Amino acid sequence: MAYLDKKQKFRKNLIEQYRKILREDQRNLREAVDSCRDHIVIKIGYSSVCDICAKDLGWYCVDSPNKYCEYDESSGWIDCKHCGQPSIRK
Ligand SMILES: [Zn+2]
Ligand SMILES: [Zn+2]
Repeated sequence: MAYLDKKQKFRKNLIEQYRKILREDQRNLREAVDSCRDHIVIKIGYSSVCDICAKDLGWYCVDSPNKYCEYDESSGWIDCKHCGQPSIRK
């Protein structure tokens, strides 16, 4: 192990503390975002974004009750079960 002087030790501790805080903040943020269940959808371009958690929910969908495209097994997870549009579009 390299010898660190006082200043270097101080900086090392500071960086370690910030890293720890950052990790905790990231966990708190993830938990807060994941706890958003009833998204309030706003249309941004062709996308649906939740006004509360800011999650990108995918394509905006006029036919979907949730206002974003959803896919299920019946269409092989490719086409929206509401509007029939594919998940990959130009
Ligand atoms: Zn949300
Ligand atoms: Zn759709």
